Amino acid sequence: MIKHHPEDDLLLSMAAGGLAPGPALVVAVHVEGCAHCRAQLRLLESVGGVLLEDMAPADLSSQALARTLAAIDAPPRRPAALPPSERPSLPAGLAWPRALEACTATSWRWLGPGMRWSRLRLPADPQAKLFLLRIGAGRSLAPHTHSDSELTQVLHGAFHDGRDLFGPGDFDAADPSVHHQPAVRDGGDCICLASVEGRMRFDSPLARTLAALIDM
Ligand SMILES: [Zn+2]
Repeated sequence: MIKHHPEDDLLLSMAAGGLAPGPALVVAVHVEGCAHCRAQLRLLESVGGVLLEDMAPADLSSQALARTLAAIDAPPRRPAALPPSERPSLPAGLAWPRALEACTATSWRWLGPGMRWSRLRLPADPQAKLFLLRIGAGRSLAPHTHSDSELTQVLHGAFHDGRDLFGPGDFDAADPSVHHQPAVRDGGDCICLASVEGRMRFDSPLARTLAALIDM
């Protein structure tokens, strides 16, 4: 049961084509698995269509939403897909999100005890900070805040960050006002897709150094 969804203003930005490719992909992965947000996007598209009638056509790209929804509805484009052998391994039963088909990905890399990460690269924006985090049961990411925004989509497992519990399918948006320490629940690894605009700002010098090394 999904509890945490993108706010309407984020979905509206998505509908209007106003999100950078990295954040848009995290929202797209959420929408792929969330019937509620798919319906909400379609509603916002119709609202956006009404707004657009009174606006200069160049201001918004209403086609962005149509393209996104078409991509979600369309059968996977197998020729463009990354060979499964080149993706980081996922737990049995967890499918690679279709919205990520066009991304290249590294295998899992060490990030700390019980922690691994995979860098994803988007053809549309190779500089986008987009990655998968895989954190073991009972482990915590170092406390941090954000210079700009961090969007997170939970693919597997669950974490609590002091604000709330986030489980499979849940979405979270954190900004400079959020200082948190995501802690993975007992029972299994937590795998999240994350997009960072700006920088993550870790409290500890060691975590800051490590984050700078991997451009997180
Ligand atoms: Zn949703």
